[in-house]
Amino acid sequence: MNACPELETLLIGAAEHDADALAHLRNCPDCAASAEQHRQLEKDLFRLADPLPPVDFVQSVMARVALEPAPARVELRTGFTILAVTLMGAVLAFVATHGNLGLLGTRAASSVVAWRNLFFAASEALAAIWSTAALPTAVAMAGLVVVSTLGVRRLASHRVVEAQVRP
Ligand SMILES: [Zn+2]
Repeated sequence: MNACPELETLLIGAAEHDADALAHLRNCPDCAASAEQHRQLEKDLFRLADPLPPVDFVQSVMARVALEPAPARVELRTGFTILAVTLMGAVLAFVATHGNLGLLGTRAASSVVAWRNLFFAASEALAAIWSTAALPTAVAMAGLVVVSTLGVRRLASHRVVEAQVRP
C-alpha cells in the first residue's frame, strides 16, 4: 500500500471523485477517520457561518408583514385616488346631465354606479347655482379644489410626522 497522502490532497481528491483518493480512503482507516473528522468540523463551521432559516420562516415573515400597518404612502395614494375619482365623477355627472357630451358622460358616470346618485344630486345643485351665477360658481369650485389639495397635503405632512414619531 502506498504511503498516506497529505490529508488536504486526499480530501480534494475525494471531493473531485479521484479514484486513487477514494480507494485510499476505503482502505486506510486512519485517513478515513481523519477525513470524517474533517467533514464533521466543516459541517459545524458551515452551520455557524450560514445557519439555515427555520422551516416556517416565510410564514412567520408574512404574518408579521400582515400585522404591520399599511405604509402612509399607500394610504396617501389611496386618498389621492379617491379624491381624483370623486372630482372626475362629479365633472362627468355634470357633463352627462348638462353638457354636450351627454352620451359619453352618462356611460362614464354609469361605471361608478355606487356614487352616481350622489354625483347627480351634487351636479343638480351645481347646475342650479351655475345658471344663476356662473363666474362665482367657477371661482368657488376652484377654491374647493385648492382647499381639498391643501387638505391632502396637510394630511401628508401629518402622516410623515406620525410615522417618524412612531417606533
Ligand atoms: Zn492513509
